[in-house]
Amino acid sequence: MEFIQPGSWAEALAIQAELPAAVPLAGGTDLMVELNFGARRPGALLDLTRITELRHWDIDGNQVRLGAGVTYSQVITELRGKLPGLALAARTVGSPQIRNRGTVGGNLGTASPAGDAHPPLLAARAEVEIASVTGTRSLPVDQFFTGPKHNALEPGELIAAVRIPLPSGPEQFSKIGTRNAMVIAVAAFSLALRPDCQEVGTGIGSAGPTPRRARQAEKFLAAALAEAGLWESRARLPDAIGAEFGDLVAAAAEPIDDVRGTAAYRRHGLAVMARRTLAWAWQDYQHGYDGAGYEGERDEPCE
Ligand SMILES: Cc1cc2nc3c(=O)[nH]c(=O)nc-3n(C[C@H](O)[C@H](O)[C@H](O)COP(=O)(O)OP(=O)(O)OC[C@H]3O[C@@H](n4cnc5c(N)ncnc54)[C@H](O)[C@@H]3O)c2cc1C
Repeated sequence: MEFIQPGSWAEALAIQAELPAAVPLAGGTDLMVELNFGARRPGALLDLTRITELRHWDIDGNQVRLGAGVTYSQVITELRGKLPGLALAARTVGSPQIRNRGTVGGNLGTASPAGDAHPPLLAARAEVEIASVTGTRSLPVDQFFTGPKHNALEPGELIAAVRIPLPSGPEQFSKIGTRNAMVIAVAAFSLALRPDCQEVGTGIGSAGPTPRRARQAEKFLAAALAEAGLWESRARLPDAIGAEFGDLVAAAAEPIDDVRGTAAYRRHGLAVMARRTLAWAWQDYQHGYDGAGYEGERDEPCE
């Protein structure tokens, strides 16, 4: 097996163009497991760890541009104020060792339905920045997942970054596992309230062939809050709204029975998580939380 270590992004893209079968390596926390179990035997590995810009994030307008090689530990320590949903999810990933090595770009690369970064990225309406020698394209994250462990990358393409709008309101994340750490989600859910657009974002994990949004639930909640004037008043949220939201989230899932849980349990868990994350987010909103770092105008339009 050839081991290629480019020193720059341009070099990495050139190699990926020349050798599209070379498999990119970031933290290796998914890939090395596959290699060690003999599940994969690529002819070449393209080690991206020497490309320093991949490990950086910056603010670009009202977005965080998160380099594909930013680790979960970085998200937790450096971005918990700016991206609270993603940081909450990052805290549930593996163990400290896994969080030190594992990257958001690697989570997207694997595209597992159970990847914990995916629900908050979906809820935040993030975009994946994809690069090749011919240029860069951007894809909404809900179009990036094409099937179980399949993504929209074409041969010769690499994930450069994820662009995540700074939140204008509270974000929450919840995950069901069989224990508190080192656990693959039985089901996961993320919620983002977007008061500037009077919109709601959702992300469902581990309950369908791909991570997905609960679009009907998003529409219902945004409209219910608008009809009752709650976006403005921040008054108490009627229980019936939370209950209906939970049911619509559960209905949006397409879970299966497997070793980690039954489809029925996953649906039930999603309804509970949706109600709870809404209650937590609403409490934050009532306490005046309007996001951190968000300043007025959005770069991207409301939907
Ligand atoms: C013990 C253990 C516990 C874990 N717990 C969790 C958990 O709780 N939640 C969770 O979501 N995951 C968990 N994982 C899985 C893994 O840690 C995550 O999916 C992590 O985000 C992978 O990132 P990485 O940088 O290690 O990716 P790698 O293993 O380096 O790569 C993963 C895939 O992405 C591709 N890739 C990497 N970077 C790029 C790029 N820039 N462009 C294109 N393709 C790229 C690789 O080719 C590979 O196919 C766990 C893994 C282990 C071993």
